[in-house]
Amino acid sequence: MDFKVGVIAGDGIGPEVTAEATKVLDAVGKKYGHSFDYTEILMGGCSIDATGVPLTDEAIAAAKASDAVLMGSIGGNTTTSPWYKLPPNLRPEAGLLKIRKELNLFANLRPAYLYEELKAACPLRDDIIGDGFDMMIMRELTGGLYFGERSTKEVNGVMTACDSLTYTEDEIRRIAIRGFDIAMKRRKKVTSVDKANVLDSSRLWRKVVEEVAKDYPEVSYEHMLVDNCAMQLVKNPAQFDVILTENMFGDILSDEASMVTGSIGMLSSASLNETKFGLYEPSGGSAPDIAGMGIANPIATILSAAMMLRYSFDLDKEADAVEAAVKQVLKEGYRTGDIMPQAGQSTEGITKVGTAEMGSLIAERV
Ligand code: NAD
Repeated sequence: MDFKVGVIAGDGIGPEVTAEATKVLDAVGKKYGHSFDYTEILMGGCSIDATGVPLTDEAIAAAKASDAVLMGSIGGNTTTSPWYKLPPNLRPEAGLLKIRKELNLFANLRPAYLYEELKAACPLRDDIIGDGFDMMIMRELTGGLYFGERSTKEVNGVMTACDSLTYTEDEIRRIAIRGFDIAMKRRKKVTSVDKANVLDSSRLWRKVVEEVAKDYPEVSYEHMLVDNCAMQLVKNPAQFDVILTENMFGDILSDEASMVTGSIGMLSSASLNETKFGLYEPSGGSAPDIAGMGIANPIATILSAAMMLRYSFDLDKEADAVEAAVKQVLKEGYRTGDIMPQAGQSTEGITKVGTAEMGSLIAERV
């Protein structure tokens, strides 16, 4: 099949890591008989330099004309880069917020997977890690507390701030459907996380999730209070498959879940809308401190491309092949600098490689 992929290389290490992801996609295309047609899209600091704004209307149109978008990362050094002397709506990050809104990307997915070979980077005890864990955090991205009405004013002589948390049943239903769909592609378990003992929005969340669950008899589901979930993530992470939750809870829990895996250079993510369209990007930033040095870890971006194959193109077998190739290179001992063994750990059988070599090794093993 033929797929149109928009590529936002972005700033910093973005161009280096997206080049490796498209290298791996091309290897997938060659092996499985697909073609990926790439359109370069400017966003972030590079767009500011070329056009004066972080995201042009033409760039949005190009993204909308693609089947999916693969992104590196945007932004520069927030202290020294001239981009950060611009008004907030003209800074690199404004482009990202705008594209998420324009493309209606309401569902954010972040996998947290512990690679056997990188267990040493996990801050949890061995008896807790056990055989590892493999979960997906599904976070609602465009509603709730971060998008509610807010005010700060004096009430009866006292400064009073207010943020409101609103969800409609439609907003809950569409993310719940996405969560159960994703669970069907995985181990068929959903943990819906809320604070239904206190919040009305959570009680509506729970009711709608139960309605949606009826359409997925194969998926087992449970409700969990958010404070308990925060504990369970460090107590028994293996119990989770898909964690489905609202915006703020997801913001906090996804960072907690990613931290227990260890390395930022390994963490992929996806933001989806109601169609098959998605924006796929590594969880980390543009790493200006190592940009242009050829040492960035491209695996998070390569795994984001694997998510694109799975969730936008329904190419599960191909996505499995990319994920297996990543596991294989780690097993063979290849590491970029960020995932090298720490001081005091054995480096026997370990080979340090750069960005392009890591990409090639993975592409060869697809
Ligand atoms: P960062 O994630 O870019 O870097 C944090 C640390 O992790 C650095 O030491 C960096 O070298 C390292 N790192 C990150 N990715 C790596 C990789 N693939 N391989 C090896 N090491 C890696 O976070 P930051 O320094 O806080 O932010 C830098 C810029 O990135 C800022 O402008 C920020 O706004 C932007 N940012 C963009 C996105 C995005 O595009 N979605 C996300 C987060 C931050």
